[in-house]
Amino acid sequence: MDSSPSSATVQWPAIEVGFSKRPPQIWSSPLLDGAAKMVTSRRRRPAKVGERRSVFWATLPSFAPPSPVSIASSIHHPPLPTTASTTDRVFNFAAGPATLPENVLLKAQSELYNWRGSGMSVMEMSHRGKEFLSIIQKAESDLRTLLNIPCEYSVLFLQGGATTQFAAIPLNLCKPDDDVDYVITGSWGDKAFKEAAKYSKPRSIWSGKSEKYTKIPCFDALEQTPGARYLHICANETIHGVEFKDYPKPASENEVLVADMSSNFCSKPVDVSKFGVIYAGAQKNVGPSGVTIVIIRSDLIGNTQPVTPVMLDYKIHSDNNSLYNTPPCYGIYMCGLVFEDLIAQGGLSDVEKKNANKAGILYDTIDGSKGFYRCPVEKSVRSLMNVPFTLAKSDLEAEFVKEAAKEKMVQLKGHRSVGGMRASIYNAMPLAGVEKLVAFMKDFQARHDG
Ligand code: PMP
Repeated sequence: MDSSPSSATVQWPAIEVGFSKRPPQIWSSPLLDGAAKMVTSRRRRPAKVGERRSVFWATLPSFAPPSPVSIASSIHHPPLPTTASTTDRVFNFAAGPATLPENVLLKAQSELYNWRGSGMSVMEMSHRGKEFLSIIQKAESDLRTLLNIPCEYSVLFLQGGATTQFAAIPLNLCKPDDDVDYVITGSWGDKAFKEAAKYSKPRSIWSGKSEKYTKIPCFDALEQTPGARYLHICANETIHGVEFKDYPKPASENEVLVADMSSNFCSKPVDVSKFGVIYAGAQKNVGPSGVTIVIIRSDLIGNTQPVTPVMLDYKIHSDNNSLYNTPPCYGIYMCGLVFEDLIAQGGLSDVEKKNANKAGILYDTIDGSKGFYRCPVEKSVRSLMNVPFTLAKSDLEAEFVKEAAKEKMVQLKGHRSVGGMRASIYNAMPLAGVEKLVAFMKDFQARHDG
């Protein structure tokens, strides 16, 4: 029985770690680095028999308070909220880790302390116990539903970020002397290409670098290497805001298409059968950092180079259902909640419509600004997820970011390598966030134009 959302235990943060009206006594421990504060509460009802309560901070010997200190000198972080309130939240335009759906966060909060009557947090569960097995299996099954993943594909929940996959791909799919092709449409594709050079013979068959990564090539013009083992693309370049709207076909027999989908994973339907491997870090669209998802056609598994570390060997992970070693359990649980939410929203076609609408509003504002704002990316390949833009008066950019932050719209500064601004508007960014941003942009322009 899922008793958590409405059970008494979900109230514990309000009672136990909230700030009472009269200044409570707070102790800080160097161990906690000021982040967690122990707060005494005078409003405490007796515990029911068997009830689990949040007394652990107060009772753990290692967190024993050295001495009481005043609130003013001890608070390095904002106080914990007494109740979850959506008005406390900012619109977070970060590129990743990124905003997560509010209902998912609240659900996780309600289950944090005692997952569905198990008496444990998901963080405390054995990864081989029946509770966690049910979590990972449901997450996989929901992801299969969302992306309509054919049964001949394996789904792996791994660690190490997409960056680890830059090495795992060549280590698993080719021999050191094999040719492999890379289409480089931004910094991430370039990083993947450079890593692959350690384990294979990668060829950059197209690079958008000279045009500052604002384009996707015409597929007919690609000079693919005969006999290449795979063709690698980055489906959405997070920094440059360039997104493949369709996918190139590998030219050679037995060659497969490999895609880094970190920043547009689950943002729209994808025909998985066109790919040999899809990989994605979770921290943009589907969960917290720490989980990396790999979807791989099963017949490609089992041909690793001998030097491949076990943790990068897809066969090891596939044979062990992603439980060869301790997986990122809590992150997988969070991804599972996000998958449930995406299904509840109607699936990825509906999600794509919402994303297209949000991106359309933002790009229209940029294009309609008579040059005050500018997006350098070619219109047909503009990302629905990451919208980079500059100001004609570049000296106003810092002011733009500062004023936006005052209005509770944060993380709008562009990546340090390209400058300008970037609004990441992943699945979980509500329409209201984009509407607030464009209203701010118009107002900012009215105040600074001319
Ligand atoms: N690929 C893309 C498209 C990304 O956006 C990122 C991270 N921003 C990475 C790869 C690297 O991911 P990680 O930090 O998880 O290794």
